[in-house]
Amino acid sequence: MMFQTEFNLVGNNTLASSVQADYFYSFSTQEELLWSLENKPEKQLCLILGGGSNIVFTSDVNGVVLHNAMQGITAVDESDGSVLIEVAGGVEWHSLVQWSIQRGYAGLENLSLIPGTVGAAPIQNIGAYGVELCDVFESLEAVEIKTGKCRQFNKLQCDFAYRHSVFKTLEYRGKWVITSVMLKLRSAILNTAVGFQTGYGEIEAELARRNVTELSPQIMSDVVVSIRRRKLPDPADLPNVGSFFKNPIVSDVDFQRIQQQHPGMVNYTMAEQRVKLAAGWMIDSLGWKGREMDGAKVHDKQALVLINAGGGGQAVVNLSECIQKDVVNSFGVFLEPEPLILGAFK
Ligand SMILES: Cc1cc2nc3c(=O)[nH]c(=O)nc-3n(C[C@H](O)[C@H](O)[C@H](O)COP(=O)(O)OP(=O)(O)OC[C@H]3O[C@@H](n4cnc5c(N)ncnc54)[C@H](O)[C@@H]3O)c2cc1C
Repeated sequence: MMFQTEFNLVGNNTLASSVQADYFYSFSTQEELLWSLENKPEKQLCLILGGGSNIVFTSDVNGVVLHNAMQGITAVDESDGSVLIEVAGGVEWHSLVQWSIQRGYAGLENLSLIPGTVGAAPIQNIGAYGVELCDVFESLEAVEIKTGKCRQFNKLQCDFAYRHSVFKTLEYRGKWVITSVMLKLRSAILNTAVGFQTGYGEIEAELARRNVTELSPQIMSDVVVSIRRRKLPDPADLPNVGSFFKNPIVSDVDFQRIQQQHPGMVNYTMAEQRVKLAAGWMIDSLGWKGREMDGAKVHDKQALVLINAGGGGQAVVNLSECIQKDVVNSFGVFLEPEPLILGAFK
């Protein structure tokens, strides 16, 4: 067991930022993780890295990067139409979705093709097409970076919300390594009409186009995969981190004000008199789609996706700041970045 030094992370982040980590170690077992926590050089930053699909590196990492490569999926219990599965943190998320679909388990189909690892999924409560991780989440195991102590977090303790969990708060951020996640999926689908989340316009349209009469996890997954392939650029071709901004959530009162000035504003009504605004629509309406600026570009088809066009992470962040200013000036709304943006750490 040893740390690699001056390790280039270009192959470890989907934005393809070519930055170096002072120290890098990939752990495949709990024992290796504990060894790395005990023996890591004394540096301020200790970053846990999964697939690097939600991280923007703007400069070299003066610290230690620990890469989660823990593998394994186990069905631990199956009863009453549901199955409990325990998944190691380093498992690729889409492989887990495929594993579950091959066995006819339902619950993950709408989350097909999301890049990254299972251990990172709770961090921002990944979501797509009306389903979020928290809908199938039971608990997780994590190791505290400072002490090496193991702890279980249940759903309540994770405090999930839209693109949010307790692991994004000041108290917990960057302090825990998620080593495994327990999910509860449906092993028997009693009523396909209510068993699947088909409410999104694009999903309805694709199901109709395919003349689907009976739903299954496989069919739903195929539909989601084909929509995502049409809409989202593959990071292997156009380096990106998916949606760069969260959809902002405003009060109903604020929404009425904004809508008076911008009647076309795309929005989704939420609980507790709140409204989610479509960040992509705002960016698009200001003419940003397809615009390139100093080595960073807004994707031609999807205004929420920013691409590294040669300038690296910093160029993408510069572009994102220009977009933020324009949106604030035009709509009075702040767009919060979705990925973790890492600067210089000394
Ligand atoms: C093309 C594309 C499409 C995407 N679509 C979606 C989408 O539809 N919905 C969605 O929600 N997200 C989406 N994302 C974002 C991303 O895929 C998810 O956030 C994913 O969960 C990140 O996983 P990762 O392993 O790559 O995490 P990383 O980028 O490696 O890390 C992200 C954060 O999690 C922390 N972290 C990672 N692993 C662990 C661990 N084991 N323990 C503790 N902390 C950890 C990191 O320190 C960092 O803060 C998309 C990204 C891309 C590139």
